[in-house]
Amino acid sequence: MKIGIVGLGLIGGSLGFDFQAQGHEVIGVSRREETCQQAIDLGVVQTASTHLAALEAAEVVFLCTPLDRLIPIAHSLIPHLNSATIVTDVGSAKATIVQTLEPLWPNFIGGHPMAGKAESGLTVAQGGLFHKKPYVLTPTAQTPNPALTTVTGLVQGLGATLYTCPAEAHDRAVAWISHLPVMVSASLLAACDRETDAQVQTLAQHLASSGFQDTSRVGGGSPELGVLMARYNRAAILASLDQYQATLTQVHTWIEQEDWSALTAFLEQTQRQRPAYLE
Ligand code: NAP
Repeated sequence: MKIGIVGLGLIGGSLGFDFQAQGHEVIGVSRREETCQQAIDLGVVQTASTHLAALEAAEVVFLCTPLDRLIPIAHSLIPHLNSATIVTDVGSAKATIVQTLEPLWPNFIGGHPMAGKAESGLTVAQGGLFHKKPYVLTPTAQTPNPALTTVTGLVQGLGATLYTCPAEAHDRAVAWISHLPVMVSASLLAACDRETDAQVQTLAQHLASSGFQDTSRVGGGSPELGVLMARYNRAAILASLDQYQATLTQVHTWIEQEDWSALTAFLEQTQRQRPAYLE
């Protein structure tokens, strides 16, 4: 199969490695000439160009650019495609993308591979990144069956675990387990930094260990990615922040009122709940 990939970074490059290894012909398009050359040298793609016209013959195109470039690139890509070409994307928020791209290109299906790394760019792309990781597809009632079948086959070929759900359900779910944790973790770091006694703050910095490493990790990540999550999944993040704020207020009240039995019951419950999210 001729597969096009737009955006040869961590996700686009990793898809290229796997598709090439499976014998597909991968045609890459990226913004910078040097990225295109590097992708050819690394064996991520067979050919690469900075021009979307290179994808004229592609049967399936994966849009793998940053979230805020997906819609503008789809607009520029469409004049170069024939109507049988299937277009999918890998953006980590789905409703806005699907609502915009489906009317533009009926042969579109939204997707989100839930695998990643702290670093970005082609140099950290790797084969097998998606193996045994969730890959969500968000078909609608209008999605043509052949598009769903073809992309499903490619996702299964990656060894990923396929989930299908409406884009809105995807966005609410990832708000809980991915986007809210970024905002909570960043807020934790910011709150610690508001300690007014410089000596106490320095001591805290020296004493911070594995627990703080776990809880602060995602808050110390890329600011650009955090803002894109908030912009493209705004409603779901706001709803989960509201619930989180209410829960925190409840915890504050129990501690203030020295209601240790309520706090015990709460922590026993969260201890029981955690494994369901990490299996
Ligand atoms: P990335 O490593 O920064 O790669 C994006 C690549 O897109 C860049 O290397 C850049 O290549 C290229 N690009 C930027 N603007 C472009 C344009 N106008 N035209 C063509 N290419 C352009 O980012 P990523 O982590 O792979 O993320 C890509 C997408 O995957 C995002 O939509 C994100 O939501 C989604 N996603 C990310 C993760 C994750 O953990 N990182 C996980 C799942 C899904 P040049 O070098 O040519 O500029």
